[in-house]
Amino acid sequence: MKILVFGAGQLAQMMYLAAAPLGVDVYAVDVNSREVLNPMSKEKLDMSIEYAISDVDAVTAEFEHVPEDLLLLAEKSEKLLPNMNAILTGADRVREKQVFESNAIANCPHMVINDLSQLDASIQALGARIIFKASRDGYDGYGQWRLLSGDEKPKLIQAFASLDLKRVPLVAEKMLSFEREISIIGARDAKGNTTYFDVAENLHHEGQLHVSVAPATHLAQSTINKAHEIFDRIATALNYVGVLAVEMFQMGDSLIVNEIAPRVHNSGHWTQKGADTCQFEQHIRAVLGFPLGATTSSGVTAMINVIGCTSFSRDIISIEGCHLHWYGKELRVKRKMGHINVVAENYASLGEKLLQLLAYLPEEYFPLLRGEAKRLSALDA
Ligand code: ATP
Ligand code: MG
Repeated sequence: MKILVFGAGQLAQMMYLAAAPLGVDVYAVDVNSREVLNPMSKEKLDMSIEYAISDVDAVTAEFEHVPEDLLLLAEKSEKLLPNMNAILTGADRVREKQVFESNAIANCPHMVINDLSQLDASIQALGARIIFKASRDGYDGYGQWRLLSGDEKPKLIQAFASLDLKRVPLVAEKMLSFEREISIIGARDAKGNTTYFDVAENLHHEGQLHVSVAPATHLAQSTINKAHEIFDRIATALNYVGVLAVEMFQMGDSLIVNEIAPRVHNSGHWTQKGADTCQFEQHIRAVLGFPLGATTSSGVTAMINVIGCTSFSRDIISIEGCHLHWYGKELRVKRKMGHINVVAENYASLGEKLLQLLAYLPEEYFPLLRGEAKRLSALDA
């Protein structure tokens, strides 16, 4: 069987790798050049997008910012999973908030801004600390502006002046003081069967994910149940098929949804080594109508993003339970170049392994790792 993925980055690559043992081939579409490629070798395949859609069993996406005409082509073939509405919802913060609101899902207090004159009203409604997010085309903290005090208002007005807010409105969100960020990743098949991976705890630095640990430490069963319920409500509302990620802020017992990703997600990369079936295989299974796999964790796992850096010894893989996943991309500042998964039997041992790992890494590129390693090391074995 065959799958076509919109997007030809690392997520398509990892879908390809997970699909191969199932006898499933994966093609990718570079949505800029509009070429059909092999997602691993990037070799051009001699076929049009139209032909590729007709040739495969399912069409899916590795990111939500796919041009609408391509989504429409795929939707018309009735092979697009998740469906176009689900992908467009993940691509547009205004649509996303509407789904949260109409399904009674707790989310950040917010206001949609499509004219600069609404700026003062947003500050009045949401308070002095606000994050303004472009409603479309943002990722990894790009397309975001933070207002931390009134002094910064002129700077913001200047930044917003060049934006076409009628075309791409901003979503102003109250800056929340949460305890931590977590995500629930699960998969839903066409019959509505749902599986969830263990909840991951996510550490961000400058708006970018650096480290995920799963299962999240100190998570009450009632909170896990709540995360599942939120997942179900969103997945059902979107008539979702495939892997879906929901990013949340945890404040005590309450979970506030930040955003969704209608696809496999960076905070689920730990499943490659830490769960019975990884998120990439689970997505393939869901969109092809195969039985969903077990999601049981095989221990505790940390996923460490390698961001803007290539120079470290590959001897990291001498650490037991440590696996490197390299994307083969050209080096750029703040670009995700690969990730490292470290699996251990318990948190204390995971913390020790992360300390060993740090000995090989240029620490300035891994600013959160030592703190996390120490925190985990201090937990009960
Ligand atoms: P990514 O693609 O990495 O998920 P993104 O660009 O889509 O990021 P968000 O997830 O909305 O953007 O925000 C990035 C990070 O900024 C969050 O993970 C969180 O750390 C912080 N953040 C976002 N919204 C808020 C908020 N309302 N209050 C406090 N912090 C926030
Ligand atoms: Mg996010």
